[in-house]
This record gives sequence, C-alpha cells and structure tokens, in this order.
Amino acid sequence: MHFIGSHAGRRLARPSYQRLLDRRSRPTSLVWRSHASGPAISRNTVNNLDNGAQGAQVLASAGKEELDSGTSVKVNRPLTGSPRETPLDLPSLDKKWRKKWKEMGPRKRTVDKTDPQKSMYILPMFPYPSGDLHLGHLRVYTISDVLARFKHMQGYDVMHPIGWDAFGLPAENAAIERGIDPASWTKLNIERMRGRLEAMNGHWDWHREFATCDPSFYKHTQRLFLLLHERGLAYQAESLVNYDPVDKTVLANEQVDAKGHSWRSGAKVEKRLLNQWFFKISAFRQELLDDIEQLATDGAWPEGVLAMQKNWIGKSQGARIKFPVTASHQQTHSDIEVFTTRPDTLFGVQYLALASTHPIVQKLAKYNVGLQAFLDAIPALPLDSRVGYLLPDIRAINPLAYEKSTPDATKASLPIYVAPYVLGDYGDGAVMGVPGHDTRDHAFWKHNRYDDPIRMVIAPSPDDASIAGENQPFVHHGHLTSHGGPYAGYTTAAASKEIVSSLELKGLGIATEAWRLRDWLVSRQRYWGTPIPIIHCKGCGPVPVPHEQLPVELPALDGHWGKGKTGNPLDNAHDWVNTACPKCGDPARRDTDTMDTFVDSSWYFMRFPDPHNDSIPFSPEAVDSSLPIDIYVGGVEHAILHLLYARFISKFFATTPYWPSGSKTRGEPFKRVLAQGMVHGKTYSDPSTGRFLKQEEVDLSQTSNPIIIATGETPNISYEKMSKSKYNGVDPGICMDKHGADATRAHILFQAPVNEVLEWEEERISGVVRWLRRIYDHISHSQKRWAPEMHDASSKSNLVMFENAFKLMDFQDPLRTEDAELRFLHERSDSTKKLWRGVQRTIIDVTESYNNGYSLNTVVSDLMSLTNTIIDTSKGQEVPRGLIYASIASLLKMIAPIAPAFAEECWTMIPGSTSSIFEQPFPEPDGTYDTLAPRTQPCSVQVNGKLKCVVELPVPDPKLKGDGLEGWIVGQILGTAEGKARLMGSEGKKGAVDIRTAKKVIVVRGGKTINFVV
Ligand SMILES: [Zn+2]
Repeated sequence: MHFIGSHAGRRLARPSYQRLLDRRSRPTSLVWRSHASGPAISRNTVNNLDNGAQGAQVLASAGKEELDSGTSVKVNRPLTGSPRETPLDLPSLDKKWRKKWKEMGPRKRTVDKTDPQKSMYILPMFPYPSGDLHLGHLRVYTISDVLARFKHMQGYDVMHPIGWDAFGLPAENAAIERGIDPASWTKLNIERMRGRLEAMNGHWDWHREFATCDPSFYKHTQRLFLLLHERGLAYQAESLVNYDPVDKTVLANEQVDAKGHSWRSGAKVEKRLLNQWFFKISAFRQELLDDIEQLATDGAWPEGVLAMQKNWIGKSQGARIKFPVTASHQQTHSDIEVFTTRPDTLFGVQYLALASTHPIVQKLAKYNVGLQAFLDAIPALPLDSRVGYLLPDIRAINPLAYEKSTPDATKASLPIYVAPYVLGDYGDGAVMGVPGHDTRDHAFWKHNRYDDPIRMVIAPSPDDASIAGENQPFVHHGHLTSHGGPYAGYTTAAASKEIVSSLELKGLGIATEAWRLRDWLVSRQRYWGTPIPIIHCKGCGPVPVPHEQLPVELPALDGHWGKGKTGNPLDNAHDWVNTACPKCGDPARRDTDTMDTFVDSSWYFMRFPDPHNDSIPFSPEAVDSSLPIDIYVGGVEHAILHLLYARFISKFFATTPYWPSGSKTRGEPFKRVLAQGMVHGKTYSDPSTGRFLKQEEVDLSQTSNPIIIATGETPNISYEKMSKSKYNGVDPGICMDKHGADATRAHILFQAPVNEVLEWEEERISGVVRWLRRIYDHISHSQKRWAPEMHDASSKSNLVMFENAFKLMDFQDPLRTEDAELRFLHERSDSTKKLWRGVQRTIIDVTESYNNGYSLNTVVSDLMSLTNTIIDTSKGQEVPRGLIYASIASLLKMIAPIAPAFAEECWTMIPGSTSSIFEQPFPEPDGTYDTLAPRTQPCSVQVNGKLKCVVELPVPDPKLKGDGLEGWIVGQILGTAEGKARLMGSEGKKGAVDIRTAKKVIVVRGGKTINFVV
C-alpha cells in the first residue's frame, strides 16, 4: 500500500548505492572479507577480530584517560594504524555500549520539564509478544527509536515507552497446543522479546513497561468498561453475530474480510444469534468523522489512513422510504422501510429484498417450513450468493404508485424476497431492488427472474436513445428516462430532491442519512482476555462488579490446558463463575465473556504516563502533561480498527474528569501518525511449476545468478509479504548478530522511505557496513593528525572555535576577522569552504528529514555523501585539521540516532569528547551556508545561438532583473580578458563580434547563459 501524501515531499527519492558507495570500491581488508563470507573464517581470524576490537577499546580508553588527566596526548599512538589493526567489530560494540547505557541509567534530562513545548511523547504501536521480533517489528521500533533519540538530542524531554499487547487468541491456541497455561507462555515470550528489543540498541523507558494481561493493568480495563457502562455506552444486546467456527468466538464486523473470512483464523465466518456486549461507538460517529479534517492538517496523518477511516464510518445521505405491504392472508402488514442513497431510481424498483433477520421474515418463518429451511441454509452460503426465497402471498407497493402521473410499470405490485446478500445490520435489513441501476440487484434479478425485462429509468443523457442495454446495470448519475413519468428528463440530483419532498408530504418518505459504522462488539467467548466485570443475578439483572472488588481475575485452570479442549473454559470454571450478587447477595453468575483485545489497545497509550497508578487508570495530571502523543508509529494494517477504537475511547475519556485538557484536541490522542510500509521478503519460485522454493533448494553462492539445485534452472525472484508458506521469512536477530544492530538499523532505513514497502535483501547490508567502517578507519587515522593541543580537553576554546569557525567569519572583509587562524582558513579557501558548506547543507537536510519522519532513507544517504566529502577533503593538505575535526564531530552527532553504539564508540576516539554522545546537542546550522556559496559561476556566451566562449563571472545579485541584469552581465563579460579580446569587435579582424552592438540580448539560467543576436 502506498501512502505517499504531500508530506512525503521531495526527499523520498531512493538513494543510489552506486553513487554513494562505489566511489570507494577498493577491496575491503582481509579481515573484513573473512568476517563476511563463510569459507575464509578461521579460528585465527576470529581471534584477530577479537584482539582488534579490544585494541580499539584500549585505544579509546587510553585516549580518554589522557584527556581526563588533562595532559596533552603525544602524536605517537602505537595502536593507531591500518584498518587491519583496528577492525571494526560492530556486534561487540553493541554489547559494550548496551552495558554502558545500562550503567548510565535513563536519559539525562536536558531541558526544564515544566516547559510543555519541550516534552515529547513518541510511541510505536506495542507488540503482541509472539516471542520473536520479526522484521516488521524491527522496522517500527527502529523508526521510533531513531526519532526519539533525535528529539532527545534536540533538547526535548522524550517519553519513549514500550509494553506488551499480551492478551489474545494466539497465546490461548498455543497453550492448547502445548498444554501450558497462556499466562506462563506469554510471560516466557515477553522475556524473549524484551531481550530482542534491547538487542536492537533501542532506548526504551523500561520503568514504564507493562503487559495488558497483568491484573494490575486489566483492573483498569475493567474500570474503563464500567465507566462506559455507567454512561450507557456499554450495553448487552441480542445480535446476529459473526462467529468464527475455528477459533470458536465472535468477531467484530471489522474482523471479517470482504470475502467473509476471519481476519485471524481465515475460517469462513458463520452468522449466529447471541447475547453480546457492545460499546456504543456510534454515539461518537459524528465527531469521529468531523475531526478527520483536523487530523489531515499538514499531513499529520497519512491521507490514505484517513480515507479508510472515513469510508469505514461511512456516512451517506439518502432517504428512508416506506413501501406499503399487501397480503392475501392476515399474518403481517406493517410497511417495509428501506434506506437508499438513490431515491432517483425509485421508478426502477422491481422487487424488495429482506435480510433473514427482518421482523417480517422472522414472523413468517414460524408458519412457513420452506422459509425456515431456507433460513437454516443461509450460514453455509457464500457471501456473494445470489439465491433468494420468494415470500408467498405478500407483495409490496411502490409509494409512487399513488401518483396519477406515475407510469403503469411502476404502479405494479412488487415481489418480496429473502436474500442473503442483504445484511441485517445495514439500514433496516431491507433494500429496494433496482436491477437497472445497481450491480448486486442486477445480478440477483438475472439469477432469480432471468426472463423478466429490466426497467432502465436512468440514462447518461436526457435523450432516451442513450439508454444502456439490459445486460449491464447503469450505476452512474444521469437523467431520468420516460419511465420517470413527470420527472422524465430531470437530472438524478433534481429528481431525488423532488421525489423525496413529494413522498415527505404523504408521509411515505424522509430525507435522512445512514452510517456504515456499527457499534463495537466486544464480547469474546475465550479465556485469554480481560474478564467482563459484570455479575448476572436472577433478581437484579446484570450488576456491575463494585470497584473495590476489581480486578476480576482470571481463574487459574490447572490441568485444563493439556487436554486440547476448545471453546471457552470459563464456562466450566464453576468456583469462579458462581458468586454472590453484589446488590442482593443472592447466588449469581459471573459473565464468562472476555473483552476483545482491541479494548486493551484502545487506551494503553494513556497508561504509560502513569503506569503504576493502582487506584485509577491514570491521573489527570499525568495524561494532561503527556497527551496527545506527538508521533505514533505503526503499520498501515492497523489503519482502521485500532486507530478508530483508540480515537473513540480517547474521545470518551475527554468527556470525563480523567483527561481534563482532552477537549482542547477534541479528544484526539495522536497528533501525528507515521504509517510505515510492510517488509517483503525475497521469494524464490520454480518458473515451470510456480512452486515456492526453500532457501536450501536454491544455490545462492553467486548472488547475482541463483540456480535451482534440482533442475539447474534460474528461479523466479519476487518480493512478497513474508510467510511460512513462501519460505521468505527472515529472522532479523541473525542479521543483528552477524552485522550488529546499528548496521541493521541503518540498512532498514536506507532501503526504502518509511511509508513504502521495504524489500529486504540482507546481502546489501555490506554497503552500510563498509560506510561505517570508512568512518571508523578515518577517525583512527586522523587521531595522529589532530594537533596535540586539540586532545587537551582543558583547552576548551579549540573545540568551540572550530565548530563556530565560519560563523565568526566575514568573507566580504576577511581583515575584519581578528583571529589569525580564521584568516588563515579564509585564505586557504575553496576546498575548506566547500567542506564546511557540505556540513551545513547536510545539517539542514538531515534535520528536515528527521523532522519529517518519512525520509529517513535520505538521512542515511546524505550522511554517506558527507562522509565522502570529509574523507576526500582530508587528503588535501590545505584544509585545516581543526575543520576536519569539527566536520567529523557533526557527522557523528547526526549518525548517532541511527547507529547509537557506533557513534558512541567513535565519539570516544575524538578529542575532547564527553562520556556519551547523547549528551551532545544535535548540530544546528550556523548560518554560514549562504555566506560560503561559491562567489563566481561560469557563464556561456553565445552569439546567434552559437557558443563563443565560457567566462567565469561573479554570481549576480538576486535582486538584479531584466535590463538591469543584462547590463550588469555585459559589463562583467567585457571586464574579462576573454571578453576584451574576442567580443569587442577588434577592428579589421574577420568575423569579429562586438556584443555592444547586439540587436537583442537574452539572459537565461540566472546569468549562466547569455545569447547575443547580432
Ligand atoms: Zn441480585
């Protein structure tokens, strides 16, 4: 799915490895090669690597000791040498720095907490603890961690918590499969995943961690349920529900796909009539719809996500129309009401269709065995089934039939069918069938009344000749045909309006609206969820569990899980189920349903600001100071369900004392939503059979030329959603173990813009590794060259001076700069200026990309480019060492959010560094970018369109325009030696041109080209 909205901007271009990396295609060192590919690894190599890494650490700590002691470091540093002596071992840097970070404790606050502008809440959607971190997870958590680290360096007080969406069917199914209770299973998985989350070098607020399956959390989920119940927003109703026969539970409409299958088990969903708990999301539907506009401002939410929400809420304008019913017997007789968005097609109604749940159908079924048999068969039918059951002895009348001017065809009475395609929960479970102008109605009519003609009442133009054939419905707007009686020739809009007003006068219709959004069914007949805190008493009815009795804890079911039973085990937990009514004390039963896990995730983000509050879900102060969430990162697959429910529950809390300032944002919980694309895996298939191939079935020794081992053929290669059946899943843990978490993070970011599909190719990570290695090697080498005094931390002015060097400089008047060294820099000029200008440009671009959040790929490519500039420039003798130093310091600070352990390590290797690079402010542009602009540019001089010469001219003042610019350029050209010699018409010379006599002068490209017509 692509959600490149306007926010994506110009900087989403896919960076080119060729351009960035091939500049240095020198062979990698011996040590690196053995590390990267299997065969060359030997015990010795591994030892070398270890020694090397230790060497680097020794070097780093040696440098630090000397700095701490305040003495100058002498140039001869025995361990600094060729890359071979200081190999970069990224995995061991991860370990080293994770340990150090742990010792350092939580982020040091760099700002005054009381300044609300300077606090930031960045949240990734919390994971379901499946036990393994897959690549999709790693991508989300990398993005949020990078943004959190960046904002921290920018001086924000950042909250970046993580927790566990720990209830749900998979744990229960795994428990049944393995005979272990879901609580223990979940706990184990959380332990494993916590380790993985640390291993990706993320900086998490572990002190805020919680799991939704912990009674200390779900106590408050139950509290939320009761709050909704008090307000009449949680209610019980008999309802025809979606039932998943595999998972043996009810599903919300949102959890059934378009083909009628469960989103989780994939089973064909059945319809069953059950008494269920609902949350009344419909009470908030107008606000949920209206506030979409607010979320769309400045691309804060992806357009595609908002479009899906809008569509799901599904408000449509139309009319409710009554069709009187005639019956030859006396069983039934109320009118049938339908909702339609197309009252203009009323002349074309040829039948009515009712849902199986319609009261008339239910009533008739009591006397009609055939009808009952048909109803019984419905659950087994496919959703797009066109079968219908014609109700005998009853017919409907088109309300237009009472008009004299209505054509006879429309006056005829209408057959009434029961049809599975009519949903009981849309409108009123009744539709008017217009075969001429609705696709499904057309298909139904063709199936059931093949020989009966279809009435076309709308045509594309007022001319009846344009009527479409009967084989296709005409579903667009147009004009009424002659079947429209008095309205013939009207546009559909005008006819709709007129028809509805005339029906309104007779009490047969009313203009109204309909909503697609249904109330949220939260009951689940499963064990592993939050128990619904209701006790059912024969005398008192459903009674809320009193607050002091919360949480209603799930009973431990010893011995249950080993027996492979399905269904809801709570039904049989008699000791737990049987209790006393809180109101009258009589024997009563607990509700055995648990809540949909989407209830947990609809409010968990409000718990993080106050995660240990025992008495209430969260304190108003804590939530007021943290919400709304500044950046919410997650997969687009949650665009409808989770985000809609979260908006609903937040809007509800904003109407309670729990979130007093919530009304300021209209209860919207997420200021920005960053939707990241999916991760696709490299998928091999057999071209002759289409069968997916396992990795071991393909010879991958030549990356560019894979071969199917069995046949010698070349396999088809595609990138597809990772799945077991396609053998294209990847364990990112293996990649991190091999290449280090930092390189893996950078690789993930570099491969695709955040909102696009990431096509995972592990091999290409070598480009990122090579990049980090070049930086590391360069710093190792440069240590020798940095002047001894630069290693002296007490000489603070050195550090500050170089970073501020160009800010102080006035290039128009170098003599005004009093500092001798700065004047020296200026005199050296071009490559020096180019380097610092490159640093400034990168700071500007990278800051923008980090802020934008979507183009993190260009952060990596911009930093790669800057690395090239720094290393290339360093080779020249004329660039002052201090400037190289300042450039590297800026580079490292900009890399730090992406490759935190690597940046920390390199930071210790440069002079004057503090203990952690994350205590450094993120670089800010110093305003020299424009000052350092090249002051001349080449100007191509053409005469009659032919190039005469190219002269180097000062860059024209941007204020110069038109004649002024033209005159100025001519003057400049004539001031050059070339101009004097060739363009002033030296007398007597053949073909000599005098541009001063030109008939016309054309200046283009800001003065870079000038054409004289002579
Ligand atoms: Zn009672």
